[in-house]
Amino acid sequence: MYDPKSSKAEEFICHEEIEDTLAYAEAHKHDRELIKSIIEKAKELKGLNHREATVLLVCEEEDLNAEVCSLAEQIKKDFYGNRIVMFAPLYLSNYCVNGCTYCPYHAKNKNICRKKLTQEEIRKEVIALQDMGHKRLAIEAGEDPVNNPIEYILESIQTIYSIQHKNGAIRRVNVNIAATTVENYRKLAEAGIGTYILFQETYHKESYEQLHPTGPKHNYAYHTEAHDRAMEGGIDDVGLGVLFGLEHYRYEFAGILMHAEHLEARFGVGPHTISVPRLRRADDIDPDDFDNGISDDIFAKICACIRVAVPYTGMIVSTRESKACRERVLHLGVSQISGGSKTSVGGYSEPEPEEENSAQFDVSDNRTLDEVVKWLMELGYIPSFCTACYREGRTGDRFMQLCKTKQIQNCCHPNALMTLKEYLEDYASPETKAIGEALIQKELANVKSDKVRDIVVERLDKIADGSRDFRF
Ligand code: SF4
Ligand code: SF4
Repeated sequence: MYDPKSSKAEEFICHEEIEDTLAYAEAHKHDRELIKSIIEKAKELKGLNHREATVLLVCEEEDLNAEVCSLAEQIKKDFYGNRIVMFAPLYLSNYCVNGCTYCPYHAKNKNICRKKLTQEEIRKEVIALQDMGHKRLAIEAGEDPVNNPIEYILESIQTIYSIQHKNGAIRRVNVNIAATTVENYRKLAEAGIGTYILFQETYHKESYEQLHPTGPKHNYAYHTEAHDRAMEGGIDDVGLGVLFGLEHYRYEFAGILMHAEHLEARFGVGPHTISVPRLRRADDIDPDDFDNGISDDIFAKICACIRVAVPYTGMIVSTRESKACRERVLHLGVSQISGGSKTSVGGYSEPEPEEENSAQFDVSDNRTLDEVVKWLMELGYIPSFCTACYREGRTGDRFMQLCKTKQIQNCCHPNALMTLKEYLEDYASPETKAIGEALIQKELANVKSDKVRDIVVERLDKIADGSRDFRF
């Protein structure tokens, strides 16, 4: 029984509803009138439901597909301008009791080097990340109640926030750890985390159970209902994601949008972010062992359709994707990317010795953060290190309201310029700095309010003189 308001996983992610949606989309893939009417609705910038969006995903009318891509680009411009928010992952521990068949951290893998960072090692990693210029981290850890209990995660968050090295600071810690209890989510909320991110991996229950044969993660309902518990525990911003390549992408696409609709229906606020990782090669994982890999074209189409379906939800692409692929999807609505990432446990402060491979997946984009920042600016984007919202209490429905009315842009754009200026002063190579300074000057003209522009100019001067951490 499909019910977006239900608290039961199998009711808000209803298999029959997804199957019906896919059949409906297939039956209408050449229905130009219907597809055009959905595109018209998407132009109102209020989003689409899972069924409408799936029709666009399945559409086989070339000119209409091109129209969806242009609309995604337009929506990206309207809601996010030319800003791209930067972040880096920090792997704390790869001990894990689960048996996920697509991840090299699964408990049966005896080859991979198991590591867990001590608080001193975390300090070193965070200093290295600060020295690159990062302000926003996503911490990652396997599920292991003995090695990685919630107390370890909380202590690590405290350590990360406490480190002030030169002008560096990590101002927002997003957390990507296993599904847990309301009580533990409450502790994470109290620790001042940004977004709680949990990937569903696949919404297809039967496949989910096969892909997670052992460990607590085997429980589909407990995993799928985790975001609800996070919100009940006081975490305002949650992130969704699936691992494309495990199940058929159309199923996952409908599923993730139903999940977004559920959060909106039950809590009045949709997901803060949606991540779109694709399965990658790793220690004992071969993507060719899985049947549902997707091409770059399909990947781009998924990104475009997510953008038009949930305009106000941030979209994240990691270094799983190559430079070329990232460039392609930046146009279509991606709003956050990682840069200079290491997917091993440790590795930022000192390179990991080859014989000690602890990485979760092979990185496709190996460039440094400085190279990524320069590249973004050359493409016409403003790399942003902004973390203002949750520090200003703009979270959950308050944030979404500002987003939906596009008022948030009055903060995002000046904050992007000021945090970029900090980056240029403290970390950029001379070449990157020169490009960035010119970009900031050009972008000042795009600050709509004269009053705000004057404040930004004044603050940019202060940043050049050594002051830090201004924000709107
Ligand atoms: S995906 Fe997460 S839960 Fe599964 S094996 Fe990897 S680290 Fe463990
Ligand atoms: S102002 Fe808020 S929404 Fe905009 S970039 Fe900063 S943190 Fe993100």
